[in-house]
Amino acid sequence: MKVGLIRCQQTEIHYPAITCLVNAAKGEGGYSEVGPVEIISVNSCGGCPSKQVYARAMEMKKRGAERIVFASCIFKGSLRSLEFPCPFAGKLKKLVDEKVQISTIDWTH
Ligand code: SF4
Repeated sequence: MKVGLIRCQQTEIHYPAITCLVNAAKGEGGYSEVGPVEIISVNSCGGCPSKQVYARAMEMKKRGAERIVFASCIFKGSLRSLEFPCPFAGKLKKLVDEKVQISTIDWTH
């Protein structure tokens, strides 16, 4: 399965997505429901309040992504940056579900 990975822009400043990528290759963590995946694109939300998510997820879908994966920093927060979930997490998931019309995976590790 081909997927597009969307990250929190505030987290990508210091975190290189290593566990998100390793788990994708192994089909572990949030990917365990679908098994190993091929990440065809990685991008951020565009920064608060996440207004680029629609355009970026749409582009990923256009280029072959079958699911959009939200990096764990969005729904779980990140220990070294935002220690709380994205305050817009629910909205951005709804946007992708309803406007981009593609299923999501909501965590990576
Ligand atoms: S909108 Fe959410 S995911 Fe995007 S930078 Fe802000 S806190 Fe991070």
